[in-house]
Amino acid sequence: MHLKIAILPGDYIGPEVMAVAIPVLENVLKKSGHTLEYSVHDVGGAGIDNHGKALPDSTLEACRAADAILFGSVGGPKWEKLPPKEQPERASLLPLRKHFRLFANVRPGLLLKNLIETSPIRPDRIPNGVDMVCIRELTGGLYFGAKSTTTLADGDIEAIDTMVYRKSEIERITDVAIATARARRKHITLVDKANVLETSVLWRKVVGDRIKATAPDITLAFIYIDNAAMQMVLKPGQFDVVLTENMFGDILSDEMAVVCGSLGMMASASLGMDINRHGKGYGLYEPSGGTAPDIAGQDKANPCAQVLSVALMLRHSFGLEAEAKAIELAVEKTVADGIRTADIAGGAKAVGTKAMGQAILARL
Ligand code: NAD
Repeated sequence: MHLKIAILPGDYIGPEVMAVAIPVLENVLKKSGHTLEYSVHDVGGAGIDNHGKALPDSTLEACRAADAILFGSVGGPKWEKLPPKEQPERASLLPLRKHFRLFANVRPGLLLKNLIETSPIRPDRIPNGVDMVCIRELTGGLYFGAKSTTTLADGDIEAIDTMVYRKSEIERITDVAIATARARRKHITLVDKANVLETSVLWRKVVGDRIKATAPDITLAFIYIDNAAMQMVLKPGQFDVVLTENMFGDILSDEMAVVCGSLGMMASASLGMDINRHGKGYGLYEPSGGTAPDIAGQDKANPCAQVLSVALMLRHSFGLEAEAKAIELAVEKTVADGIRTADIAGGAKAVGTKAMGQAILARL
């Protein structure tokens, strides 16, 4: 197979962790006889600095021509004085999601047994680690509904965000959750606020009907977002696939990442309806965390999230399961051998980004 990938490292730690992920990708493909063609492009702050635009036309063009996008992360203090609409994340990542109709964010929350002590959760509450996947709707809800800020006649100021969902939007993300659950423990938990929100009532009905009609092998549970936030720290092991709308998923998936130890270990996939040249889903793959300006340029960032995003890409956009698994096992073995960056070292001696990358490569 010939893989064509657009690589967008972004800002601060983005290029540092991408420099680790690229050799891992090259190495695993070389070993399995596949060929790789990739090009590297500016995005986010780097796009603003070098092209006057967070999502330069040349970058978008390269993404269009590729089978998948490998993304780093964007933004940081250098650009935070720009108007909100021009901020790197808002002006590059959101348009990319919109352009490629990436409506499903799939974020695995895996706490390896060897890393249980890095979780803020008491070890006796998670004797078997944590293994769940959060499926977040990504292009609807409050973040994309109509917005306005109005000064009223009496001088008061009113701001409005609108939450809109259609049956068809809920059905397509439910199908992603069903496919994910089928490859796992076959249980979906729908997180909503159906006691208050109309959209949540629709979610419950559509998800329930869809599973009943197309996936009787899957069990379904409903939970309110407030209780879900509690259960995520009380008993995270109870979750298999967590399905939810955009804003709840934004918050809950970060909570999940913290429960699982470190943002530096969490990768995510944003998937759409488009099919690439290999008949697989076009997608954008990135670490769950941001640009970590506090540790950038110091060889301190954990590259595992970026490396694991390569595994997600090989699995979802190319169907290369064995290669994806090989990368995941190499990361797991590195951590099990006690080789860890500062965020997961628990105070013990840590290695730097580059050494962590070498250790992963050596175990691939
Ligand atoms: P952040 O995720 O960058 O950092 C939060 C904390 O996690 C920091 O202490 C950081 O050092 C740590 N961390 C994150 N990734 C790490 C890694 N790989 N290894 C070790 N530690 C890691 O969140 P923030 O500080 O709120 O945001 C910084 C910038 O990143 C902001 O400009 C924000 O807009 C941007 N951001 C971008 C994305 C994206 O591109 N998808 C996502 C989130 C935040």
